[in-house]
Amino acid sequence: MATSDRKKEPVVYALSRPSRCYGCDKRMLVGEIVRRCDNDEDKEVYCLKCQKLDHLSVLPTGNAKVTRLAKKYSQSRFLIMKWSDTWKCYERQGLLVEADALARARKEAIES
Ligand SMILES: [Zn+2]
Repeated sequence: MATSDRKKEPVVYALSRPSRCYGCDKRMLVGEIVRRCDNDEDKEVYCLKCQKLDHLSVLPTGNAKVTRLAKKYSQSRFLIMKWSDTWKCYERQGLLVEADALARARKEAIES
């Protein structure tokens, strides 16, 4: 079976207000990374543990070098978006990448 699906980067969200995980009822604070299962604000958000993504770390935007390297090394990655009450739209916050990949990228960025 030939698959020609365009590879779209999956998205996670940084909470813009406190919430609870729909899976384990964990209380989550503003800024925590969650996955959402529909597009409605505040509905059915899941913590990274419930989504089995807790091996991933947050890489904030701003360091192009580290970002490029982390993208190269991380097998899985998610775009982190956050709702901006100021702009009324989602803003890109950074990437969620494998912790190992991030550590390696940071190390290489310093050394090179
Ligand atoms: Zn949970």
